[in-house]
Amino acid sequence: MNPRVLILGGTGEGRRLAGHLTELGVPVVSSLAGRVREPKLPEGEVRIGGFGGPEGLAEYLEEQRIGVLVDATHPFATRMTGNAVSAASATNTELLVLRRQEWVPGPGDDWHEVDSLAEAAEKVGGLGHRVLLTTGRRGVRHFASARHNWFLVRTVDEPDRPLPPNMTTLLARGPFDAAAEAELIRRHAIDVIVSKNSGGGMTEGKLTAARELGVPVVLVRQPALPDLPVVHTVADALAWLEERSPHAG
Ligand code: NAP
Repeated sequence: MNPRVLILGGTGEGRRLAGHLTELGVPVVSSLAGRVREPKLPEGEVRIGGFGGPEGLAEYLEEQRIGVLVDATHPFATRMTGNAVSAASATNTELLVLRRQEWVPGPGDDWHEVDSLAEAAEKVGGLGHRVLLTTGRRGVRHFASARHNWFLVRTVDEPDRPLPPNMTTLLARGPFDAAAEAELIRRHAIDVIVSKNSGGGMTEGKLTAARELGVPVVLVRQPALPDLPVVHTVADALAWLEERSPHAG
C-alpha cells in the first residue's frame, strides 16, 4: 500500500508535487500555514493552519498515519522546517526536504549578499534611493526606519506594520517575467532591489532585469539546510518517493 504523504507547502513546488502524486494515485495531504488570504490550492486533500509546534505536528503525523513527510516550504520558512525535523524524528517518520537551489550571480550582476533582512536594511541606503522591496509581507518592518529611501513594496497581501514612511504598495502575485520587471523598474525609477535569495523561476525575472539595467540587488542568503535528505526539484522528489514506494501509480 502507498504510504500517505504529508506535504508542508505554501510554494509552487509543493503544489506541483501534490498534483503529480494525486495523478499517480498516491494519498497526499497538503498543509498550508494560512498566511495568504486567497491561497492557490493544490490538488488533493488540503489542511490549513499551524499544527501547534513540533508536538502538534508529531501528533498529526501519528493520528493521520502519515508515512512520509515532505518539507516543501519556502527556503526561508525555517521554523516550520525545524518543527518538521523534530516531529519526524520523534515519530520515526521519513522526511524529505524539497528546497529550491539558490540563485547564483553571473557576469554583469551587481549583487550584495547579506545574512538577514536587518543587514539588508542597513545596506540599502548606501546603494540607492528608490527601492523595489520584494521580501514578503512580514519582512517589510525591517525597513520601517529607513527615512531617506522611497520604497515600492510588492507583496501578495497588505504588508505588516510598521511600514517605512515613504512608500507605495503594489499588491501582486508572481510569476513575474523579466520584461515586465524591467518596465516596472523604469516606470518607478528604481535604483536598487532588495530580495531574499528564494531561488526558482517564478520571481527570477527581477534579477535578469536588474542585470540588464545595471541596478544593484541586495540579496538575503538562504538559511542553512538541515542535515537530511534534500532534493532541489519536484522531479527529484518524485523519484525519491518512487524509490520508497515503487508501486505508486
Ligand atoms: P515559519 O516562520 O517557518 O513558520 C511559523 C509557523 O507557521 C510554524 O511554526 C507553523 O505553525 C506555521 N506554518 C508554517 N508553514 C506551515 C505549513 N506549510 N503548514 C502548516 N503550518 C505552517 O513560516 P513562514 O516563513 O511564516 O511561512 C509560512 C508559509 O508561507 C509556509 O508554508 C511557506 O512555505 C510560505 N512562504 C513563506 C515565505 C517566506 O519568505 N518565509 C515565502 C513564500 C511562501 P505551528 O508551529 O503552529 O505548526
